[in-house]
Amino acid sequence: MSTKSREVIWGSRIMGANMRAEQARRDAKLAISIADAAEAEAWSVRMEGYGGPAQPSPTIGQCINGGYRFLEVECSRCKTRASLPLSDIRRPRDTEIWKLEASLKCRNCRTRRYAPPTRMIKLTEHQQITPYKWVHPTEER
Ligand SMILES: [Zn+2]
Repeated sequence: MSTKSREVIWGSRIMGANMRAEQARRDAKLAISIADAAEAEAWSVRMEGYGGPAQPSPTIGQCINGGYRFLEVECSRCKTRASLPLSDIRRPRDTEIWKLEASLKCRNCRTRRYAPPTRMIKLTEHQQITPYKWVHPTEER
């Protein structure tokens, strides 16, 4: 068999297989982001509709991957709400969302020794409220 015909027979099969592999990987990525979005939505609806429970919850990475990039929280004391961009929270992406609650503090209400608890309201795809009054987990101390 000449080099040329070998190229035609095997080369095109290899190329076809590689293309199918790439396509399957793209499909898998899309399927994961759809699953992440659905999980984030289910958690968000549970929080907003029933007030919890917050556990189990998707991770920061899953929420972002699913397109839910903002976490809306409320201060239990002054009732101020804020919409926090999840991408700004410098925690590992595999941190579950519920673990953030304890470290979120309202800038109006916190003192040196005490900060009233915050409540997670829901996840949103777009920022709906200003976050300026809030302390990020990473700004602590
Ligand atoms: Zn407050």
